[in-house]
Amino acid sequence: MIRPILIHPDPRLKKLCAPVADLDDELRRLADEMLETMYDAPGIGLAAPQVGVLSRLIVLDCVKEEGAEPRPLIMFNPEVTATSEETSVYEEGCLSIPEQYAEITRPAEVEVTWIDRDGRERRAGFDGLWATCVQHEIDHLNGRLFIDYLTPMRRQMITRKMQKLKREQARA
Ligand SMILES: [Zn+2]
Repeated sequence: MIRPILIHPDPRLKKLCAPVADLDDELRRLADEMLETMYDAPGIGLAAPQVGVLSRLIVLDCVKEEGAEPRPLIMFNPEVTATSEETSVYEEGCLSIPEQYAEITRPAEVEVTWIDRDGRERRAGFDGLWATCVQHEIDHLNGRLFIDYLTPMRRQMITRKMQKLKREQARA
């Protein structure tokens, strides 16, 4: 099932999300539907608050090469446990802020721990686009959007555009 994606500004996108305590079938189904929703969009990452669920769950797949094997990742309670001093800059976008992009600087490499779909504890290092994406998605769980890294003026400009988009969608 494809879930509707919330568009900024929405109070649910500003909330601190709660850790997942018991990994049950309902949460697994939510994770699967989030992946389906992300691929359909299409996007490379999606966080639970973007579909209105305030739980610490993200999904991502940064494999973009045509014909390459997909590499879906489901992360419950993801946590950045180490970051590199070296930074990298990527032009980021967000499914909750359609068609707006900005260059954001983040640590180039991160180590992340999480609980996988089977309830196992995992730990891995990420770099390149994967590092940016996983940090962007974890930010969502803390109510932080990529536009929060921009100047207030730029952020306000994008927010106004989104308000206009939402009014247009509501009329349609
Ligand atoms: Zn996003």
